[in-house]
Amino acid sequence: MEDGILKAISTDGSIRAVIASTTCLVADAREKHQLSFTATAALGRALTGGVLLAPMLARRGQVALKFQGNGPLGKILVDASPEGTVRGFVDNPQVELPLNSLGNFDVGSAVGHTGYLHVTIDQGFGLSHTSTVELATGEIGEDINQYLVNSDQTGSVVVVGTHLTSAGVEAAGGLIVQLLPDHTEETICRIENNIGTFGTFTFLMRRGLSLEQILGRILDGFTLQTVTAVHPVSFKCKCSNDRFFEALKVLGKDDLVSMAEQEGKAEGRCHFCNEHYYVGKERLLDLARSD
Ligand SMILES: [Zn+2]
Repeated sequence: MEDGILKAISTDGSIRAVIASTTCLVADAREKHQLSFTATAALGRALTGGVLLAPMLARRGQVALKFQGNGPLGKILVDASPEGTVRGFVDNPQVELPLNSLGNFDVGSAVGHTGYLHVTIDQGFGLSHTSTVELATGEIGEDINQYLVNSDQTGSVVVVGTHLTSAGVEAAGGLIVQLLPDHTEETICRIENNIGTFGTFTFLMRRGLSLEQILGRILDGFTLQTVTAVHPVSFKCKCSNDRFFEALKVLGKDDLVSMAEQEGKAEGRCHFCNEHYYVGKERLLDLARSD
């Protein structure tokens, strides 16, 4: 299945849902950052969470998620746009932990069971707003759920999953179902029962179901109205050679000259995508002269 996202609402006005497949973009992140299995599972869930939250929380601009836990992975930072681009990194991409008692990658211990999730919404007008919640478990999905419950007081169901084998990322994706004011007590139970009956999100993906079909299984019993067609999503960074060069302009003439003379170059690496940038001595001296 190609990576994509779609939004739907139930005709009875009790729920709205955002669902995404993110297998390729998580595989892309794994390769760019040379992630361990545990780090792939953790960053994969966080990237998927960003993809799902961006169109829910912002019309334009971006939504950034920072998971700052006390585990060995360090911080995880992800930012995503409502247009379907996402990027992110983890401080310590090589950390590997043994599987947990359920036989799953131990994302909770890797991220840390205590710490904070900071969610920054930037609507693209130069103003941004950050909310902070304590991590629920460090398992990413439950932490995002905690944020949603805290911020809009309505319940939600958050599922983010990454299925990895020695061959790589076999499936990644997730959904967020938000309860609207017309929901009843039974709404969440029905969704949770459906997940129990039909299997996990990535299990359904690996069986070859489309996003519409997975949504139909997880929201079985609700009459859905699809609001949007499937829209592509991808890992895309904002860095470029030009941006790196522009960033050098903040340095003064003397700093540029001494960098050119002493180092013979300027080098940098983008945190978000691990891309390496390089500017040679002559261009540095040209830049110093153009000040
Ligand atoms: Zn980058």
